[in-house]
Amino acid sequence: MKNCAIVGINWGDEGKGRMVDLLTEDYDIVVRFQGGGNAGHTVVNEKGKFSLHLLPSGIFRENVVNVLGNGVALDPENLWKEINDLKEKGIAVTPDNLKISSRASLLLPWHRELDALEELRLADKSYGSTKQGIAPFYADKYQKKAILAGELFYPEALKKHLTELMNWKNLTLTGVYHAQPYTKDMMEAWLKEAAEKIKPFICDTSDFLKTAQKQGKKILFEAQLGSLRDVDYGISPYTTSSNTMAAYAPIGSGLPSAKIIDVIGVVKAYSTCVGEGPFVCEMHGSEAERLREAGLEYGAKTGRPRRVGPLDIVATRYGVEVQNATEIALTKLDVLSYMDEIPVCTHYRIRGEETGKFPFPLALEEAEPVIRLLPGWKTDITQVRRWEDLPEAARNYVLFVEKEIGCPITYISVGPERDSMIIR
Ligand code: GDP
Repeated sequence: MKNCAIVGINWGDEGKGRMVDLLTEDYDIVVRFQGGGNAGHTVVNEKGKFSLHLLPSGIFRENVVNVLGNGVALDPENLWKEINDLKEKGIAVTPDNLKISSRASLLLPWHRELDALEELRLADKSYGSTKQGIAPFYADKYQKKAILAGELFYPEALKKHLTELMNWKNLTLTGVYHAQPYTKDMMEAWLKEAAEKIKPFICDTSDFLKTAQKQGKKILFEAQLGSLRDVDYGISPYTTSSNTMAAYAPIGSGLPSAKIIDVIGVVKAYSTCVGEGPFVCEMHGSEAERLREAGLEYGAKTGRPRRVGPLDIVATRYGVEVQNATEIALTKLDVLSYMDEIPVCTHYRIRGEETGKFPFPLALEEAEPVIRLLPGWKTDITQVRRWEDLPEAARNYVLFVEKEIGCPITYISVGPERDSMIIR
C-alpha cells in the first residue's frame, strides 16, 4: 500500500482524528508531523470517547506504532498528562507503541506563558490563540533557541543549554512583558517532573521509519488543523505557526524520502472556524445557533463555541488544491438533516465582482458570500451505510460539492462513531 496523508482542507476540526482512527486498521504506523497539543482530535470507538491533543490517533489500535516526528511541538507536561489520561481509560501507551523523535524540539514552560502574555498585550487584536505556546515555540525553534528531545540523554550539556536559553528568555519576559523571570530551580524541577518522564519514548524515529519503509510497512501521516491555517498558505496572520500541508509530512515526520501518494482531505459538510480572523461564510443569530447545536460545535481543547457557516466552496477548492488532495472524506453530513434547504457558499463577491478564486488574505475582509440553496433531505441518515441508501437530495448535495471542488468524495460520515461511514 502507498503512503497516505490525512489532512484538513479547511480551518481544522473537520474530523481528521476519526478518519485516522478508522483507516489505521490497514496501517502499521501513524506519524504526527506538525503542530502541538493545541489539536483536539475526537475519536469515538469501541473503547470510548477520547480527545487526543498530541498523541497520534492510531493509539487505539494494538498493532499500530505511533510516532511524534521532529516537526511537532513536543510539550512534555501535556503529553505526559495525555498518556496518563489514556492509561486510566485502559489504553496502553508504551515505548513499543509510541516513539518520539530525538530531533523533536521541546515546548518549554515559557512558551505557554509568552503566548498568553502576547494575547493579553494584543487585547482586542489578539489572534485567538489556544495559548498552548505554539507560536512562541516555533519562533524559537526557527531562531535555533530550542532544546531537542534527544538532549535529555546528555544531562550536563542539557543543563548548560537550558540555563543559556532561560537567561536569554528572561530578558524578554522581564524587559518586554514585565513578567517574573524563570530560575534554575524552576527549570530543574521541570526537567525532573516533566521532561524526564517522556525519556523512555525518545529514540531515532528516522531510523525506525527508514527501516519500516524498507520492510514495506504502511505509513499514515496525520496532520493537525487545516489548509487555511497553514503558516504559508493560510489566512495570515490568523494561522497556526506550522505547515499543515501534506507536502510537509515527509520533512516533519523524519522520513524526508517518503513519497506521499494518497492525500485524503477531510472536509466538513458545512464550515466551522475557531478563533479570530476572516470567515466569509459565517452565519449569525439563531440560524448559527441551530447549526452549532446540531453539530455540537464547541472546541475540544478550549470548549469555545465554534463559528459556523455553510460549506464554503471557494475556500474548500483552494484547500484541496494546496493539499493536492487525491480524495475527500466528507464528514458530518448527518448534521444537515434538519435543514429544509442547504445553503452553500459558491463564490465570493469582492468590490461588486463575483469570484471563485480564494483571494489574498486581506481581501477576505471585504469579501461577501454568494449563497446558493440546495434541497434538503429532512431524514435521519445516521444509520445509512451504503451510498445508494442515502436520500436522493443528500446524494445530490455530495455530488454538487464533489463537482465544485474537483476531487472525488470517497468517504461520507454520518455520525461520530467509527462505523458511521459510507464508503463510495
Ligand atoms: P479533528 O480535529 O479534525 O479530528 O476534528 P474534531 O475532533 O475537532 O471535530 C470533529 C467532531 O465531530 C468530533 O467531535 C467528532 O466526534 C465529530 N464527528 C466526526 N464525524 C462526525 C459525523 O460524521 N457526524 C457527527 N454528528 N459528528 C462527527
